[in-house]
Amino acid sequence: MKWWEKICAQCGSCCHEKVRLSKNRYVYYENIKCPHLRDDGSCDVYHERFCVSPGCKKMTLLRAMTATWLPPDCAYVEWAKRHHIRFAPECEWIVSLDEELD
Ligand code: SF4
Ligand code: SF4
Repeated sequence: MKWWEKICAQCGSCCHEKVRLSKNRYVYYENIKCPHLRDDGSCDVYHERFCVSPGCKKMTLLRAMTATWLPPDCAYVEWAKRHHIRFAPECEWIVSLDEELD
């Protein structure tokens, strides 16, 4: 589904660590990211990412529609909003510059 993958802006935001604080609040760790994330936002194991990195999640239509853990500026979230099919509540993202999880 190349058209679907092309929606991704390769910002890399979803490859950073995040912790859910409550139903609609997350801490997003700017300095803690997947070791496979390159500086340009691409993935160095893209074609085998789900085997190599067990925490890596496939982007699906359902997730674009409902996942609260996607960054608010994710291109899939914006795409779903444009198509009026984004049903997840707006979440507050608190950006942390810590080098470790609290
Ligand atoms: S393995 Fe998954 S989480 Fe890690 S950089 Fe690649 S796409 Fe992102
Ligand atoms: S946050 Fe969204 S747009 Fe950015 S890399 Fe992840 S899936 Fe792609």
